[in-house]
Amino acid sequence: MKTIGLIGGMSWESTVTYYQLINRLVKEKLGGFHSAKCLLASVDFDEIEKCQMRGDWQKSGEILSECAKSLEKGGADFIVLCTNTMHKVADFIKDTVKIPFLHIAQATADRLKQTGITKTALLGTKFTMEEDFYKNVLEQRGITVIVPDECDRKIVNDVIYNELCMGKIKENSKKQFLSIIGKAQKDGAQSVILGCTEIGLLINQNDMCVKVFDTTQIHAEAAVQFALK
Ligand code: GLU
Repeated sequence: MKTIGLIGGMSWESTVTYYQLINRLVKEKLGGFHSAKCLLASVDFDEIEKCQMRGDWQKSGEILSECAKSLEKGGADFIVLCTNTMHKVADFIKDTVKIPFLHIAQATADRLKQTGITKTALLGTKFTMEEDFYKNVLEQRGITVIVPDECDRKIVNDVIYNELCMGKIKENSKKQFLSIIGKAQKDGAQSVILGCTEIGLLINQNDMCVKVFDTTQIHAEAAVQFALK
């Protein structure tokens, strides 16, 4: 079994989910007392969030690269960056280590392709929904991406930072997310990507009939598959 190098803490609410999923999956596959071999470099999210707010991607890239280097040094065989948004600096991090980097949007795009989805809604932070670094990965694989309108993007972004990253799960926000997904479905979306690692704490497949792709789940599964390959 390979050792998984997790860069987490963005936020720690969703890193907990990664840790649980990864260990459950290894146990499912290997049985008995088996659990995942992993190392976790967990950042202070306040530092990263402040970099995001002032647009200092260089600095946040440096912080995350240091994490990747320390994981490599500690014996990790590959890197899993436990956030969609910070994949904006994925190339920068990748270049600082020799071990492989498991990209969350690539893993997600592969899964959509396998299911034959060609048009999907994407929910995430404003960076993920509005900038190209994430959507490009999907579009390069022939998947059309729909994002909510400006007002709905603000709702989604605010719920992520002000509630989900703070561990607050609110029924009203769940209703708002489901209504936003309903609109995307009317616009032809065959699925919805939960493109933020905390969204699965609020909504999941049981809440709706449209196909859900939870990036935390997909990324954790890809990590376990790679670790056991
Ligand atoms: N975990 C979130 C994501 O997947 C948002 C927090 C962050 O800005 O990293 O994008």
